[in-house]
Amino acid sequence: MRRLTHVLGVPFDVVTMQEATEKAQDLLQAEGQHFICTPNPEIVMEARKDAKLMEILQKADMVVPDGIGVVWASKYSDVRLPERVAGYDLTQKLMQTLAGGEETFYFFGGAPGVAAAAERKMTKQYPGLKIVGVHNGYFDEKEEKKIIADIKKLSPSILLVGLGAPKQEKWIYENMHLTGAKLCIGVGGSFDVMAGNVKRAPKVFRKLGLEWFYRLITQPSRWRRMLRLPKFALTVLRKRNR
Ligand code: UDP
Repeated sequence: MRRLTHVLGVPFDVVTMQEATEKAQDLLQAEGQHFICTPNPEIVMEARKDAKLMEILQKADMVVPDGIGVVWASKYSDVRLPERVAGYDLTQKLMQTLAGGEETFYFFGGAPGVAAAAERKMTKQYPGLKIVGVHNGYFDEKEEKKIIADIKKLSPSILLVGLGAPKQEKWIYENMHLTGAKLCIGVGGSFDVMAGNVKRAPKVFRKLGLEWFYRLITQPSRWRRMLRLPKFALTVLRKRNR
């Protein structure tokens, strides 16, 4: 049974990183197809305006907080989230755990060349990891049909979709049944990090819950998006006082 807590209406699974990794593996073994979302505060705010996105988050099989802001906000909910479970870390753990086994991956998303570079880096990092296919995340309708057919043919166990949020969540929701993948995960810009094109914040920033600050100073073009962070905090505090 899922143990959930809600942050501004979005359900989050109350799990540690370790439990999330185990649960993802359980989903792989379970009957049918499943998907995991990893919203940060920006996406929680987006879901308040976008009913479709909210519906998708509510229907996801696991939702984990990819942002320290969500963990902070959960202290005003029924149950507190134990820690941040970043989508990047979750997929790294899964690749590490499943390398050498039967399960296979497909990387879909990122600029041309990025998923392929990520594939090379990850197979080096995790010997025995099976990545059966990759495709970049820029396509028209005709190309999209071909990508879906390619995924279906290669039949990966896990499909990582990095088209940016909320595009990837909507894509997964609409197309998962056509791909046949057992587990889909929206991974944002993870392929850029795997490929080595974008650096994760140093550990000390992550430990202090300041990865967002590191991203702001290293990718200043994100400042407009980050204006949503104080808005998120204010909305959480306003709701608490009611
Ligand atoms: N992207 C893509 N197709 C698109 C739009 C974006 O593949 O049509 C990719 C982009 O190249 C990048 C990722 O999606 O790798 C978005 O990265 P970001 O760090 O902005 O992710 P978010 O924070 O939105 O999850």
